Amino acid sequence: MNIQNFINGKFKNPISNEWIDNYCPANGEVYGQIPNSSKTDVEKAFKAAKEAFPTWSQTTFEERNRILIKISELLEVNLLRFAEAESIDNGKPISFAKAIDIPRAASNFRFFGNAITQFSSESHESVGQNAINYTLRQPIGVVGCISPWNLPLYLFTWKIAPAIAAGNCVVAKPSEVTPMTAYLLSELLNEAGLPKGVLNIVHGLGTTTGQAIIDHPEIKAISFTGGTSTGAHIAKVAAPMFKKLSLELGGKNPNIIFADCDYDDMLVTTVKSSFSNQGQICLCGSRIFVEASIYEKFKIDFIEKVKQLKVGHPSENITNIGALVSKPHLKKVLDYIEIGVNEGGKILCGGKQVTVDGYENGYYLEPTIIEVETDECRINQEEIFGPVVTIMPFETESEVLQMANKVKYGLSATLWTNDLKRTMRLSNQLQAGIIWVNTWMQRDLRTPFGGVKASGVGREGGFEALRFFTEAKNVCIKY
Ligand code: NAD
Repeated sequence: MNIQNFINGKFKNPISNEWIDNYCPANGEVYGQIPNSSKTDVEKAFKAAKEAFPTWSQTTFEERNRILIKISELLEVNLLRFAEAESIDNGKPISFAKAIDIPRAASNFRFFGNAITQFSSESHESVGQNAINYTLRQPIGVVGCISPWNLPLYLFTWKIAPAIAAGNCVVAKPSEVTPMTAYLLSELLNEAGLPKGVLNIVHGLGTTTGQAIIDHPEIKAISFTGGTSTGAHIAKVAAPMFKKLSLELGGKNPNIIFADCDYDDMLVTTVKSSFSNQGQICLCGSRIFVEASIYEKFKIDFIEKVKQLKVGHPSENITNIGALVSKPHLKKVLDYIEIGVNEGGKILCGGKQVTVDGYENGYYLEPTIIEVETDECRINQEEIFGPVVTIMPFETESEVLQMANKVKYGLSATLWTNDLKRTMRLSNQLQAGIIWVNTWMQRDLRTPFGGVKASGVGREGGFEALRFFTEAKNVCIKY
């Protein structure tokens, strides 16, 4: 199946007529092609967005709300079709796409459709100076949204929804590795009544299409989610043009388990925080630190539970672990397992590629637990982004805090304890943008979302996103 760009409300082939193969991770076969859009295609998308902006930016909040809610409803009506497409394109279990990816994409539109009706500006009375200030929050103009492959529609819409809710027009690019649901979304936009040009979706490689978006002098803001090195490159390109930037990057998140936690809850959730979506979630707790007094028990119980996870074809309802997203990514993860072993790590479970009957060329890997002796080894420091976790014991709170913070990343951290004072001490001192205590990946879309250090710059979510996609302008009136 061939995917097309969506520009000015119409489906278009790329002007260059260059195409990229789209692979199905479950069987390793090419099942379609996507445009590798050039600078000229991006320029066309930009022009459509620019033309739509004067009207869209003046469209009432009620009307924007109505359209965004309609998109959300259409996604819900088409949930199964979208979930199947996401699962085929990405390799994730259909059950995961049905329960997480597509419902959340629908929520993103509903949430920001509602949020914009509650967004307000501030005023400041300058007492004693006979003046009043009010602050306008104006949309930026044409903005660029670039997203990764791990939660394709979920993260794509997490950017697009606040951008258009705030009155901007968008040139958006999904990952070339998982373009399908962004393409299917294009089909819904006209039906929902979104005016042409408000959202333009261009497909292609990061180095061609993505680069053309970030290079464009009149695309004034870039919201990006992806790898840290790509984020650094985008920052370099964007800085001299003074573009506004939101960068959501990689992670190497600690999962810190104290002996006083609710053990059963912790165990079930730790299996999820380690291996959901084949470990390909930026929030996965890939470094597990366990208090020494329960370390041996945890090890036995964790291994037992992980061994029960079923690796299989993503379309099977009983599959817990589907295929990794691509052949190069599978190789990267396997290389890391080898590096871990060469550095002295001990594989406690998994570690090998899996052959699924009938799908011998699919990219399947066993969920893998590696016991490490030091937190300084590469597999404990570098982002693997696959079904691989490290585990090691700790003795004291200060020791584990120091290890947790001793990585270049700072996206999220999970704490398992029932000690309130310890919770508050550690939550204050952990270097991360998101802390979960006795839970994982529990999301409230109003909260700020993002990382510190090499995990990014800026925050998404709630009014933070609406602030990012608007410029504050202060008006001071003397009376
Ligand atoms: P990636 O950086 O390779 O690609 C992300 C997107 O950027 C893709 O659409 C790609 O085409 C585009 N891109 C690549 N080069 C570009 C360039 N020169 N100019 C403009 N765009 C370019 O990342 P990926 O492999 O798709 O995703 C995995 C990474 O994403 C992991 O590091 C993961 O931690 C991170 N991630 C972070 C979050 C978060 O919220 N912090 C969420 C999900 C994933």
